[in-house]
Amino acid sequence: MSELRDLYQQIIIDHSKNPRHFCVIEHPDHVKEGYNPLCGDKLTLYLTEKNGVITDICFQGSGCAISMASASLMTEAIKGKTIAETMELFDEFQRLLTTGDQKDLEKLGKLAVLAGVAEFPMRVKCATLAWHTLKSALKSTAQEEKVTTE
Ligand code: ZN
Repeated sequence: MSELRDLYQQIIIDHSKNPRHFCVIEHPDHVKEGYNPLCGDKLTLYLTEKNGVITDICFQGSGCAISMASASLMTEAIKGKTIAETMELFDEFQRLLTTGDQKDLEKLGKLAVLAGVAEFPMRVKCATLAWHTLKSALKSTAQEEKVTTE
């Protein structure tokens, strides 16, 4: 089990140092900023969506290793997924972090590397920041977006 922990740690460090999809989308369908005042983590998410599928996702930001690794892992996990699948994944991920219940760990794929965060309640907000930002990005209405793009 400790070998698995070491592997998880390595993946988290790798993603925090070399985040995937760390970029800006020129003409996104959704943009949202997220902030975790408890830790000072900040990020901006950019998404494109077609027929209910997340076709592309990028993020920019700065923060602790957990917040950056979680955002990076999230972008890898949800690109190409439908919004419904994405929200199911979020529910599962949040359940893991808040309850520490690992019985459906395989459903989470690579996101499972963050399972250890459940032992550190202060860090749960770091790990879920990207997901909460994603959820509100997807909810933002066309009207709101028009204000920012026109
Ligand atoms: Zn943090």
